Amino acid sequence: MMLPAIIKSKDEKALIIGPCSAESEQQLLKLAPQIKSMNPDLVRAGLWKPRTRPGGFEGLGERAVEWMNMLQSDFGFKICTEVANVQHVEIALKAGFDALWIGARTTVNPFYVSEIANSLKGVDVPVLVKNPMNPDLFLWLGAIERFLDSGLKRLAAIHRGFSFYGNSVYRNIPRWQIPIELKRRMPELQLLVDISHIGGHPHYLLEIAQIAMDLNYDGIMAEVHPNPENAWSDAGQQVSPDYFKRHILDKIILRKKASSSPLFNEQIALLRRQIDQIDLQVLDLLAKRMKLTEVIADHKKIENVSIFQPERWDVIIEQLLQQGKTQDLSEEFIFALTEAIHIESIQHQSRKMNHSIPEKERQ
Ligand code: PEP
Ligand code: MN
Repeated sequence: MMLPAIIKSKDEKALIIGPCSAESEQQLLKLAPQIKSMNPDLVRAGLWKPRTRPGGFEGLGERAVEWMNMLQSDFGFKICTEVANVQHVEIALKAGFDALWIGARTTVNPFYVSEIANSLKGVDVPVLVKNPMNPDLFLWLGAIERFLDSGLKRLAAIHRGFSFYGNSVYRNIPRWQIPIELKRRMPELQLLVDISHIGGHPHYLLEIAQIAMDLNYDGIMAEVHPNPENAWSDAGQQVSPDYFKRHILDKIILRKKASSSPLFNEQIALLRRQIDQIDLQVLDLLAKRMKLTEVIADHKKIENVSIFQPERWDVIIEQLLQQGKTQDLSEEFIFALTEAIHIESIQHQSRKMNHSIPEKERQ
C-alpha cells in the first residue's frame, strides 16, 4: 500500500511542537517567535482536552480558533489540533487547520473512529492517528484502516505510549515492539513519536527521542509552552522553546539509514549471517524442548497428573534468572522469554493430554 508522505519527504524528520492546550492569545503570541527558528512542520495545540476527571480545564474550544489562525497568517505556521468528534472536525475544517490528530482516547473506540472517518470522506486533510491507550496493535491498525477506507491518503501514526499498571518512570510505557510491528505491516506509513506523553517529565524527553530516531522514526511531536510551570494542562511535561531546542533538538544524534562503506557493509553482513544462524539454532533447540514436554505429557496422562506445576516453574525461573545475571541478560528479558516458552510448553502438553478438544476452543 502506498501512502504519500504526510508531512515531510522521505529522509527528513518531521517536527510538531506547541502547547498541550491553546490557553490565550498572549500565550500563542509569546510562543510563536520563540519557535520560529526551529521551523516546525506543524504547530500543535489542543482546543478540546480529554480530561480523566471532571472539573479540570477542558480546553477553550472554538474560542481558540482565531488565535490559531493568527499563527498561520502572522507567522506562516501550519497548525493542527486534536479532534474527538464530528463537531470538532467541522470546526477545525472550517477554520482551515492544516492537519488533525486523533487522540489516544479516541483511537480506542471504533465507533468514534468510524464517525470521524465518515465525516472526512472526500476531504483531503492529513490525519495523524495516535496509538490507543491500551497496548493493542490492532486497534491502532484498525483506526488507520478506517481512515484509509474513507479515502484519506495523507495519514501518519503517532506513538504516544500506552497506559499500564505497575511501575515505570515514564507516564506511558513505550512498548517499542508495537509501533515497530505497525511499521512492518505498513512500511509507507510515517511514524512519529510523541515524547511528551511517553515521558511525562522533561528529564526523559531526550532519551525517548533518541531511541525513536535510532529506530528510524519519521519525526517528533513535543509539548512546548512559553511558560511551562503555569500551563493549564500537562504542566509537568511541557518545556520552554529554549529548553526544547538546547536540551533536546540540538542533542539528538541523527543516524543514517545505511552506509556506503564496503568494509562496514561486509562486516555487518557477516555478523548478521551469524545472528541468523544462532536464531535458527535457538528455534531448533526450542522445538526439541517442546518435544520433550510432550513426552512428559504422555507420562502425566498415564498418572493423571496436572500440567501446571507451580514449584517446578519457580525452580526454572530462579535458575534462569541466576544464569542470566552472569551473562548480562536483563531480568525483564529472562521473564518474558521464560514465560513465552512456558506458555508454549503448556499448550503442547495440553494438546497431548486433551487431544479430543479442538484447538480453537482452547484459545
Ligand atoms: C495531547 O496530545 O495533548 C493529548 C491529549 O494526547 P493523547 O491523546 O496522546 O493523550
Ligand atoms: Mn497534553
